[in-house]
Amino acid sequence: MATSSSTPYVRMTLDGNAVLHPDNRLPPPKTQPGDVCCQCGAVRFRVPAAQPLGVYHCHCRECRRQSSTAYGTSAVYPINGLFPLDPELRSKLSVYIRPGVRSRTGRDMACFFCTACGARVMHRYLRRRADREAGTAKPGPDDGTGCGGGGDIGQKETETDELDNTEGDSSSEVDLRDEASYDGTTITIKGGLIMGLDYSHAVHIYTDQAVVDIPPDVEQYPGTPPP
Ligand SMILES: [Zn+2]
Ligand SMILES: [Zn+2]
Repeated sequence: MATSSSTPYVRMTLDGNAVLHPDNRLPPPKTQPGDVCCQCGAVRFRVPAAQPLGVYHCHCRECRRQSSTAYGTSAVYPINGLFPLDPELRSKLSVYIRPGVRSRTGRDMACFFCTACGARVMHRYLRRRADREAGTAKPGPDDGTGCGGGGDIGQKETETDELDNTEGDSSSEVDLRDEASYDGTTITIKGGLIMGLDYSHAVHIYTDQAVVDIPPDVEQYPGTPPP
């Protein structure tokens, strides 16, 4: 497996020999408050505003699976020039399109992650195909108030739970470099990647699906928070 200056970060597979990029021998990257930095340091950028519009600890099943932990933390920011993505940043990211059928909102979601280390970085809703074709932009109900996972469909945990990976509304033909592909004016960035993020006013949401105890004195909602 070879590396080149144009593709300094490669994704390893267990079927091949792992080749450590020379940067792996460097100390962890230095960060300062407001820096967004993935686990390996390949993805680095500044938050698009000094303060987020909201910080959410989401207990929905989608956020658990997305984060591989007991709940997911997201900070919502105005786009403020973060999109269209800088080409250098864009080259470090891969995207998973979460099908809207698994979301309470029904909208597909672009889920960006670091190609090198796999850390989930940020989420943004995609516009519905019908709205794209009609040239209309309708901010969705979760803009500025959601978990970034889109919330799940509210189904209770069951032993026979199955993932519905039905093709989404727009994923088959969406151009993620085109700003017209996206919906709304906010981006949710995963909280654990934001240096110095203030969690003191974080709101717990989708608590009816929580698998850990939630402090009784914090702001919390069984589902999506009120707008
Ligand atoms: Zn990384
Ligand atoms: Zn969630």
